Amino acid sequence: MVFIIVFWEKKNMQIYNSFTRKKEEFIPITKNTVKMYICGQTIYDYCHLGHARKAIVFDMVRRWFIASGYEVTFVENITDIDDKIINRASENNETITSLTDRFTKFMHDDFDKLGVMRPDIQPKATDYIPHMISVIESLIKKDYAYLAANGDVYYKVRKFENYGQLSGKSLDELNVGERVEIDQSKLDPLDFVLWKHAKEDEPYWDSPFGRGRPGWHIECSAMAMDLLGANFDIHGGGQDLQFPHHENEIAQSEAHNSCKYANLWMHNGFLNVDDEKMSKSLGNFFTLRDVLKLHDAEVVRLFMLKTHYRSPLNFSQTSLDDAKAGMTRLYTALKPFADNINRSEITIDWNDKRAIRFKIAMDDDFNTSLALGVVFEICNELNVSGDIINAKLLIGLANILGILTRNPVEFLQQGATLASQEIERLIVERKTAKVSRDFTLADKIRKDLLASGIILEDTANGTTWRKL
Ligand SMILES: [Zn+2]
Repeated sequence: MVFIIVFWEKKNMQIYNSFTRKKEEFIPITKNTVKMYICGQTIYDYCHLGHARKAIVFDMVRRWFIASGYEVTFVENITDIDDKIINRASENNETITSLTDRFTKFMHDDFDKLGVMRPDIQPKATDYIPHMISVIESLIKKDYAYLAANGDVYYKVRKFENYGQLSGKSLDELNVGERVEIDQSKLDPLDFVLWKHAKEDEPYWDSPFGRGRPGWHIECSAMAMDLLGANFDIHGGGQDLQFPHHENEIAQSEAHNSCKYANLWMHNGFLNVDDEKMSKSLGNFFTLRDVLKLHDAEVVRLFMLKTHYRSPLNFSQTSLDDAKAGMTRLYTALKPFADNINRSEITIDWNDKRAIRFKIAMDDDFNTSLALGVVFEICNELNVSGDIINAKLLIGLANILGILTRNPVEFLQQGATLASQEIERLIVERKTAKVSRDFTLADKIRKDLLASGIILEDTANGTTWRKL
């Protein structure tokens, strides 16, 4: 993996803040550093395509900060205790730890393939129970929370003046939505749970409020403030987490710390499949693992980065085919230079007008769609000029986005059903046929290979091949 570290004198990155609903200049709390917290997965199954989008989006954000000279602390948690986890472990007749360890490993394997860098810190909720208990105790002391008759501890939503600011919801609006819920133990239907009392046969931890386990929202608050401080730069996650999860995180953390929680909130857009919401009931639900069996991981990454991170992303065969064609174009352009470029020695000339446009696009709320446009423009120029400077710039900029990280031949020939020696032998046979003017045989060899998914490409330096 190549990283190009550049220090610009003036940092003027603009990022859309979901909290203020506008683009803002990014001003870090500490100069040249970024502390960011991303909500991770609840681990009880394989990651799905929506998880993959979130992972790729925030990996791209992290890489751009690094390329821009920031020192980044990237924290992404693992939720390893929750109703779904408890139920699944019991269905499988296995322990919770065995279930969560197994699927954490699968998640790492899948995200590694997508070129997603592992978090600097990946805390597990169950390692932070004492922290959560201490935050809940403080909230009770400050009268922001109460122990209900049923043994649960709830947060008093109405007590927190700014509740609803992130999601733009008023308390009255919320109240209407909550009417369906009949829970006698809450003082107010809007209140949410901080600590759930243990039911029979459920895992539990001892606490001053009795045996139980934490609610989901308190996990992230406790881990984020312990690892990044009461006030940190960026909190991110999928758009679906904006309400109530992130709203509740703000309420808990700010009531506890009496200071602003995250300075900036980033949310990635939804992922649809064939223009419909992805759901198991619609039969269009894909795990990342299934998708990676059919599609190259780098193609999936390119497909996801072609759309701006806040826009909805539509997964379809056509869009995947487009991304594959794009990736093939990039690697084909690089192929002649494969052996002449030492990736570790690539530096980007940020005075190059194309590099400047790439930077402007990325500094404008991570506009990967425009930045990729610049990458493809360089690819076209490389095809015309054959200039190694263009090849290096192409690799350098694409690597910032986490693509074009492999040897072109490896990408272009992967998945071939014929052995490469056999293909090379047929290329020689075709060449001999051409020399002896047996064009019928030469053409037959080409067509037979094509039928096996192998495309021959005649270049000035001889014939090469790639997988269709
Ligand atoms: Zn969270």
